[in-house]
Amino acid sequence: MAEKSYKYVIVGGGVAAGYAAREFVKQGLKAGELAIFSAEKVAPYERPALSKGYLAPEGAARLPGFHVCVGSGGDKQPPEWYAEKGIDLHLNTQVSMVDVQQKSLTSLAGVSYRFSILILATGSTFTKLSESGVPGADARGIYYLRVIDEADALVAAMKAKKDGAAVVVGGGYIGMELAACLCLNGLKVTMVYPKPFCMPRLFTADLASFYEGYYEGKGITILKGPKTTGFEIDATGHVKAVKLDDGSVVPADIVVVGVGAKPLVGLLHGQVVEDKGGFKVDGFFRTSAPHVYVVGDLAAFPLKMFCDIRRVEHVDHARKSGIHAVQAIKAAEEGKTIPEYDYLPYFYSRAFELSWQFYGDNVGEGITWGREGACAAKSKFGTYWVKDGKIMGAFLEGGTPEENKMMANVAKAQPCVGSNDELCAAGLSFAAKF
Ligand code: FAD
Ligand code: NDP
Repeated sequence: MAEKSYKYVIVGGGVAAGYAAREFVKQGLKAGELAIFSAEKVAPYERPALSKGYLAPEGAARLPGFHVCVGSGGDKQPPEWYAEKGIDLHLNTQVSMVDVQQKSLTSLAGVSYRFSILILATGSTFTKLSESGVPGADARGIYYLRVIDEADALVAAMKAKKDGAAVVVGGGYIGMELAACLCLNGLKVTMVYPKPFCMPRLFTADLASFYEGYYEGKGITILKGPKTTGFEIDATGHVKAVKLDDGSVVPADIVVVGVGAKPLVGLLHGQVVEDKGGFKVDGFFRTSAPHVYVVGDLAAFPLKMFCDIRRVEHVDHARKSGIHAVQAIKAAEEGKTIPEYDYLPYFYSRAFELSWQFYGDNVGEGITWGREGACAAKSKFGTYWVKDGKIMGAFLEGGTPEENKMMANVAKAQPCVGSNDELCAAGLSFAAKF
């Protein structure tokens, strides 16, 4: 039988894929031109919901409620949407091989397809503790979170172990958001991380102290400094405790691990130029093979405003890169071009009643304002990062949409600052000028 052939193929069915599909439709797509191959069993959804609303004890978010593109105020794209638009959505279909030269791909089931243009959007997976040889790390009851099946497993575990003890390994995004969810579900939570404070890649010690204090106020125990060296397992193969390198042993009915993400580069490894752990792309998300584009977590792209090549593992960039790549593809077909991607990095998180947003780059000195007395929900404080006398990044906890927009504007404008003391005293009003 002849292989099926598509003009456009997206491999990966996550955030970037869903937004790219919407852009193809917006730009004009004929039925049968586009196929999406996704290892997941559901149509593209807003992944951030998995570590927030999906794990809520009451009124939890469920599909189809958070299919893309609701996360950015757009319409929901359930599976029927793809069918209506003539897009072949191959769910439960892991792609095992891509041949860039031959313009073909093969699924795990051994079915081959051809394409003219490929967009790779396979995102990342989690780093497992077993990869670094931590004994017992594959025991039952140890959870990681990336896809909806893993969120479902966690929901079931939280129900089964209600009132039990949970240990969260890692003080990054997953650690902070999952510790809050476990606590809200009634588990007694202990967080353990080797660094001196949480979210060390973004937060200053001062910022971190607010979140740590708030979490402790919710009854969460935080163990900073020790490394996880192993797990104790019961006779059924289920985890029963976490062993730390300071000799302590923390009982656990559930363990959640969030120790970082790994970009899924396997399909194009050795076929296009790699960089920063992902694939090097230009300002249009085109790789060294002109008919192959890479978007989302995998793309090492030129971050114009910082004259740097970066990979960004956050949802705003996944959405925007998917859209931008499609605009570039469609423009090129008409012999036109579009402006290069000019991205302002934007990350956010929500946990308990807290909500922060960050824009720009956290380089230079962090100047925190409004922190005195801030210890509870509804606190409002922020940090400006200043380098060579210029604002490089802006963080705000508890901002209104208008105030968050001010943070984006000031991070984009990169204004010069007078003294750090003046900046600290001005706080939010400094950003109001931009
Ligand atoms: P993904 O959305 O991960 O999608 C990749 C898809 O490709 C998946 O469906 C995967 O199954 C599929 N796939 C992989 N390999 C194959 C293959 N070989 N064949 C077929 N399909 C394949 N960012 C924020 O800014 N704010 C947040 O609050 C936030 N919360 C998050 C919460 C969680 C639990 C996680 C895991 C991430 C969160 N992020 C957040 C990060 C953000 O979701 C990611 O940066 C974004 O989803 C990346 O989009 P992507 O399309 O590149 O990859
Ligand atoms: P992160 O990289 O955010 O955090 C992992 C943390 O774990 C880092 O501080 C890391 O330290 C630390 N760590 C590394 N190894 C160990 C270890 N052996 N024991 C304990 N701690 C360790 O990754 P996450 O796992 O939290 O998140 C996974 C992915 O999901 C990321 O791409 C993230 O961006 C995304 N995500 C984003 C969210 C958001 O934007 N709100 C929410 C949830 C997930 P070090 O820095 O030294 O490596």
